[in-house]
Amino acid sequence: MRAAGRVVAEMHDRIRTAIRPGVTTAELDAIGREVLASRGATSNFLGYHGFPAVICASPNDVIVHGIPGPTVLQEGDIISIDCGAIVEGWHGDAAFTAPVGEISPEAARLLEVTERSMMAGIAAMVPGGRMGDVGEAVQSVVEAAGFSVVREYVGHGIGRAMHEKPEVPNHGRRGKGTKLTRGMTLALEPMVNVGEPDTFLTEDGWTVVTADGSLSAHFEHSVALTDDGPEILTRP
Ligand code: MG
Ligand code: MG
Repeated sequence: MRAAGRVVAEMHDRIRTAIRPGVTTAELDAIGREVLASRGATSNFLGYHGFPAVICASPNDVIVHGIPGPTVLQEGDIISIDCGAIVEGWHGDAAFTAPVGEISPEAARLLEVTERSMMAGIAAMVPGGRMGDVGEAVQSVVEAAGFSVVREYVGHGIGRAMHEKPEVPNHGRRGKGTKLTRGMTLALEPMVNVGEPDTFLTEDGWTVVTADGSLSAHFEHSVALTDDGPEILTRP
C-alpha cells in the first residue's frame, strides 16, 4: 500500500504542477494515465461502475466525481482532483483541491480549512480510538470556520479493494462508532461546502454538486493505523 500510495502522490504532484488557466480536465487525466503507465500501476478509477477516466476532476461547486473532459479551467476557479492506483493488488486513493491562478479569499480559506480538517481527522486515527473521534475532529474544524461537512459521501476502508468497510464519516461524536485498531487502513476524505451541506446528483449520473451552488473542496489521504500513530500512505 505504501508503493501504491507513492504512485498516487506522484500523480498529485504532476497534476498539481499542470493546473493553470487554459488547461482542460482531460489533459489532467492524461497526465494521471502517464504516471500510472510509467510506474507499472493500474487505475482503480477507470471502469469503476463504468467511470471513464483515471481521475475525478471537480471544479468549483462540484463536490466529487466530476468527469474529465473539454472543461477549460479559468482564472479564479478551484479544482478538486481525486485519483488512485493499484500496485500488486493493493490500492491507494487520495484527493486535493487546488487554486487555478488567483482565487478569492473565501475560496482560499475553504481550501485551507478543508485540508486542515483532514489533518485533524488523521491525527485522531490511533489504535484504541473510535471512528467518531475522527468524524468529530473533522467536523469541529469545518464548523468552527462557518463551513459545512457533506454527509451523503464518506471515507472508507481501503486495501485489496478501493472501497472496503468500515465507512469513515466526516462527522460524528467522540467515543462513538467502530473501534480503531492497529493495522486498519482507512481513506479519510472530507468534502466541505461554503454553504449548506446538501448535495445534488446531476443528469450524467456521476457529477455531484452543491445543492445551493456554493463552492466545495475535497481532500483525502489513505492512512495506516500503527502503534506509532497514523501513517499517511499517499504522500511522497
Ligand atoms: Mg476515497
Ligand atoms: Mg478518492
